[in-house]
Amino acid sequence: MAAVWDVLVVGGGPAGSAAALRAKQLRPDASVLLLDREDFPRDKACGDGIAAHGRDELALLGLPDLLADYRPTQRLSVVSPGGVRVSATVARPNHVVPRMVFDARLVEAARARGVEVRRHRVRSLVAEGGRVRVDDALTAAVVVGADGANSVVRRLLGARATPERHTAIAVRGYADLPKAEDAQLIAMQRAGWPAYAWAFPIGDGTANVGFGMLLPKLHATGRPGREVLHGRLRELLPELPARELRAHHLPLSPGRPKPGVSRVLLAGDAASLINPLTGEGIYYALLSGRLAGEAAVLAPDDPLAAYRRDLRAALGRHLRTTDVLARAAQSPGFIDAAIATAARRPEVFDLLVEVGLGAGTVPASLAGAVVGRWAARSVGVR
Ligand SMILES: Cc1cc2nc3c(=O)[nH]c(=O)nc-3n(C[C@H](O)[C@H](O)[C@H](O)COP(=O)(O)OP(=O)(O)OC[C@H]3O[C@@H](n4cnc5c(N)ncnc54)[C@H](O)[C@@H]3O)c2cc1C
Repeated sequence: MAAVWDVLVVGGGPAGSAAALRAKQLRPDASVLLLDREDFPRDKACGDGIAAHGRDELALLGLPDLLADYRPTQRLSVVSPGGVRVSATVARPNHVVPRMVFDARLVEAARARGVEVRRHRVRSLVAEGGRVRVDDALTAAVVVGADGANSVVRRLLGARATPERHTAIAVRGYADLPKAEDAQLIAMQRAGWPAYAWAFPIGDGTANVGFGMLLPKLHATGRPGREVLHGRLRELLPELPARELRAHHLPLSPGRPKPGVSRVLLAGDAASLINPLTGEGIYYALLSGRLAGEAAVLAPDDPLAAYRRDLRAALGRHLRTTDVLARAAQSPGFIDAAIATAARRPEVFDLLVEVGLGAGTVPASLAGAVVGRWAARSVGVR
């Protein structure tokens, strides 16, 4: 047991496991402690969709085959709020892997690499002479706060919570679905927009199904959250009755805080790194966790500066793009125009997938084409 841990990670989701795995990968002699309040395997409310970019991150972490026994999903259908549908083969397939399996595999891989994994709920953090003291019992040179949407580490750092207008809430469940069904469906909703339902086949005769919306829109209904979310899911996917329903908040990236203070770095949902257009967060969790782990072992004297620089290089332009698009997307007509453009131009479909599930940005020419179509439709409606 180390007297001073080189890296102490709070949270064993994708962000925390990635941080721990990367730290050990770059410095096998580093002492790395991973704390989670739960034992693994544990469930996590999620659509279980893992984008191709997430798999790239797994390869960088030295785990290229972690999901090899799950069927890749090639087809994606998206229905816009106004009912425009596009169905296409994605340039690179996605995977759907229950978090009960995915997260446990990541934690196990970290353990196998020499990370010490302990069940422990973190409650306090104190900076002390170039070190961080955790719960008055553990000391570390660098702490990575990867403790999810309701991050305690973020609160203890005094960072502001994600504003309600940039927070979504979603419920997910599991439903039976013929094994042959292999297309992912995202059905956006005009009622209560921005809101959408999804059905993501897993490939084992079941699918992850769910429904999510922005928190202020849910509150505006004046009805209990559970009643609204469960009711809308039943109504939108009547042929797929869901069990094991579970809901959680999604802190969206336009509400992101500074990614840490001094020797404490925030990664994944704790840093509000969820795509505001799609609710995708696993790729950003793996990426930011990896970069936090890197900074912790390669720049232990000033990890925050290194982390901010690397995060900005990896995601800066993408986050600025989605900040703007999330504002434009408040108008369902904008999304209708974008999906209608994607239905006619396969390269636009691929680009929307890059922006929604990866680190893509939008070239000015395409933004102009979508805005032109949006304006033309608005005039047509009038
Ligand atoms: C309903 C729903 C559907 C979604 N669908 C998708 C999808 O299909 N694809 C996608 O990419 N993203 C999806 N997301 C987002 C995705 O789930 C998150 O972005 C992702 O889980 C973030 O990973 P993380 O490691 O940052 O946090 P988490 O996965 O939440 O892990 C945080 C960990 O920290 C632990 N922890 C918390 N507090 C403490 C503490 N005080 N001490 C110790 N440990 C603690 C928790 O037990 C947990 O294990 C969805 C989210 C929701 C709610």
